[in-house]
Amino acid sequence: MDFPLIRMRRTRRTEALRSLVRETRLEPGQLIYPLFLCPGEGVRKEIGSMPGVFNLSVDEAVKEAEEAVQLGLGGLLLFGLPESKDEQGTGAWDDLGIVQQGLRALKANAASKKLVLIADVCLCEYTSHGHCGMVVETADGYDVENDASVDILGRTAASLAKAGADVVAPSDMMDGRVAEIRRALDEEELEQTPILSYASKFASAFYGPFREAADSAPQFGDRRSYQMDGANVREAMREIELDLGEGADMILMKPAMPYLDVIRAARDRFEVPMGAYQVSGEYSMLQAAFAKGWLEPQRTMLESLIGMRRAGADFIVTYFAKDAAKVL
Ligand SMILES: [Zn+2]
Repeated sequence: MDFPLIRMRRTRRTEALRSLVRETRLEPGQLIYPLFLCPGEGVRKEIGSMPGVFNLSVDEAVKEAEEAVQLGLGGLLLFGLPESKDEQGTGAWDDLGIVQQGLRALKANAASKKLVLIADVCLCEYTSHGHCGMVVETADGYDVENDASVDILGRTAASLAKAGADVVAPSDMMDGRVAEIRRALDEEELEQTPILSYASKFASAFYGPFREAADSAPQFGDRRSYQMDGANVREAMREIELDLGEGADMILMKPAMPYLDVIRAARDRFEVPMGAYQVSGEYSMLQAAFAKGWLEPQRTMLESLIGMRRAGADFIVTYFAKDAAKVL
C-alpha cells in the first residue's frame, strides 16, 4: 500500500484530528519548578542571566508555591543560598539552614501539600570553594574527596527530609552517595522518603547561569573529576544502574536538550520513573532568542518540553514550568 492510497496528511487536517492522534502529551502535573531560597524577608531578586527567575526569601517562596498549586504543577525543587559559606558546607546539613527553614514554612502552608517538595542535596551552594564535595590538598593541587563528602551528603539528606522534603535529590555525583543517603534516611526512620538521584549528570557548559542563581561557581578548577564526560552514553547507563542498585527510586537526567539520546537510552533500559532537567543554559538561551524576537516564545518553549517527554522523560524540571502550565 502506498500513495495515493495512503495520505499521511489526512490525520493532520484539523486540530481535533491532530489532538486525537497525538502520541505524547504534556501536562502541568509533569512539571517541577525550581526555587532558589535566600535569607531575608520580602526578597525577590531577579537573576541577571535568567529573566523571570528569582532568588526568593522564604515568605516569597510560599507565595510562589501557592501560585504553583493554582497552576497544577507537580512540585518544586529547592536550592538554597546560605547566609555564609565554609569549607565543610555546614549550611547544607544545618537543621536551621535556609532550605530546611523553607521546607518547614512550605509544609505549614496548606496549599503546598498538593506539591511534591523535592530538596536538592549537594554541597556546592554551601562550600566556600564551590565544589560539590570536600576539597583536600594534594601534591599536584587539590582533590574533591569522595568518601568524606558522601558522609556529609547523607547527613544533609536526612536533615532535609526531617524538615519536610517529600523527596531528596542528590546532584553531587560522588560515588556511593545513594547508598549512604538511604542508610542515613532509614536510620532517622525516614524509610518512606524516596531518593531521586541525578544519576546521569554531565559536566556541562549549560549550567553557567545556574551558578549565578545559586552563587555556586567553583572558586578553582572545574567539576569534570566527578560529573560525567559529555561524550559518554554507556557510562551514563552504568551510573544509573549503580544508583538503582544502591536504592535510588527515581532518576534525573541533566542537561536535557543536548542529551535527549541519553534520556531515550535510559528509558529503553530502565523501568523506573525518570525526569529530565531542562537546565539554566537551555532556558537562558531560549529567553535570549525570545528577547531578540528570533523565536516565538510559546511554541518554542512547548516544543522544547515535548521533545523531552518524547525522548522518554516522565517529568521535567524546568524554569518554564509556570509559563508552560499557563498555556497548557
Ligand atoms: Zn553541586
